[in-house]
Amino acid sequence: MRAVSDLASTPISYLQVPPPEPGGIARVSDGVHWIRFPLPMDLDHINLWLLDHDGGSVLIDTGLATDIGRAAWERLEQQVLAARPLRLIVLTHLHPDHAGLAAWLQGRHRVPVWASRETERQIRQLLEPLTDEQIAARHAFFHSHGVADLGSFGASLSGERYRAVVSGLPQIAHHPQEGEEVSWDGTRWRWLETDGHATGHLCLHEPSRRVLITGDQILPAISPNVSASGWSTDANPLDSYLRSLERLADLDPATLVLPSHGRPFVGVRERAHELRAHHLRHLDQLLEACREPRTASETLRVLFKRTLVGFHLYLAMGEAIAHLEYLARAGRLARITDDRGTIRYARAA
Ligand SMILES: [Zn+2]
Repeated sequence: MRAVSDLASTPISYLQVPPPEPGGIARVSDGVHWIRFPLPMDLDHINLWLLDHDGGSVLIDTGLATDIGRAAWERLEQQVLAARPLRLIVLTHLHPDHAGLAAWLQGRHRVPVWASRETERQIRQLLEPLTDEQIAARHAFFHSHGVADLGSFGASLSGERYRAVVSGLPQIAHHPQEGEEVSWDGTRWRWLETDGHATGHLCLHEPSRRVLITGDQILPAISPNVSASGWSTDANPLDSYLRSLERLADLDPATLVLPSHGRPFVGVRERAHELRAHHLRHLDQLLEACREPRTASETLRVLFKRTLVGFHLYLAMGEAIAHLEYLARAGRLARITDDRGTIRYARAA
């Protein structure tokens, strides 16, 4: 039985289990335990999951490679892992709060790490310092979309930011794929590949107990970032994201959702619909704004209420371009490049 609370303001119902204390775990379903791990940023925590397996645990995601993160693991090793040692580490996707400590933990616990082929490829790529030409191309990409001053997100563009909080590339023993199943202590989990927030992003689904580990694909209180860039392999990430959401919305409505940020909840269908509606609203706002030709940068004030700087500006630009490109590829906006290389989007005639 799941005790859930009904919150009038939201169509989802949070699981009535308090977040675990630092260094501790909380049971959220049979054989599934929750770790709340500190992050030294605006988003102040990430949820990690331990699944019972072979007298120990499968760990889903790892936390950011910072002193705070390593200290949190040292505490967990004494208080939790002594009784349920790690058997395997699984990464949902490449982002540093998920993959950051994988190599460090693999070195300490001598366990295999699993991640999708795309996740491995992208981590390897991001850990490799960029050449001056590659950095210049990234700057040029944002200039072409109307950002005059890149100063405040230079470290995000060069990859320095990623390398500072990721402990290295773990050795990947297996690349789980869409539809593949795995059994841990008799519980059958199925991998779902859900692109859009990150290429190669994996969710883990247990249909009979109705549990879904969503990584960053579905979060209860914030909309996961969906960004387009000139160097991503997915040219239409918003389309990928909306398609992935549709699939998840079809799962059993009583499914317990275990997101990477926020609290576990029931209401996958409702939350998927809310997130979809949020993006459709943004698309409508952009169509309206692009009655006059606009650069992506000029549309930020339409999509976001506050003035953005640094990493937030970087994410917001990626999000704006993802939406504009979605509309351009659907033939609803025209992409116009002037002789200085500036790209503007305008309502298609
Ligand atoms: Zn992420």
